[in-house]
Amino acid sequence: MDFRTQLKSSNLSVTPVRLAIHESLVQKSHIEASQIFQIVQEKIQTTSIQAIYKNLNILVKHGLIREIKPKGMASLYEMRVGDNHHHLICRACDTILDTDCLDTAPCLTSTNPRGFVIDEAEIIFWGLCPKCQSSNKGDSL
Ligand SMILES: [Zn+2]
Ligand SMILES: [Zn+2]
Repeated sequence: MDFRTQLKSSNLSVTPVRLAIHESLVQKSHIEASQIFQIVQEKIQTTSIQAIYKNLNILVKHGLIREIKPKGMASLYEMRVGDNHHHLICRACDTILDTDCLDTAPCLTSTNPRGFVIDEAEIIFWGLCPKCQSSNKGDSL
């Protein structure tokens, strides 16, 4: 389903700003609102950062895009939704990568759900990416 159709089936109007937000997220995954704003502004000079935030919130609420909130970082946005995938973040360079949930989302199967119907599990693996691991070794020698 293309993005226009997704907007329509969520009863959202198809606006140039929403389409431009979608395009920016197709170009680059896991970017923050200020980066999206810069990309959108190249096409639509009249847009504002407030308009970007407002539209991002609406799109997140309708499940058309996903928001990730790593601690100590601004919210990041991406188009890949609905598969409950997880993220790897490098502590040194802030690189962020997708990593698949094991099998069919076993992390949604809590051993003790305490009556909750669970539909999402957010896992962020923090560490050092391969590039930063090798540069760290270089420092210690
Ligand atoms: Zn790194
Ligand atoms: Zn992701």
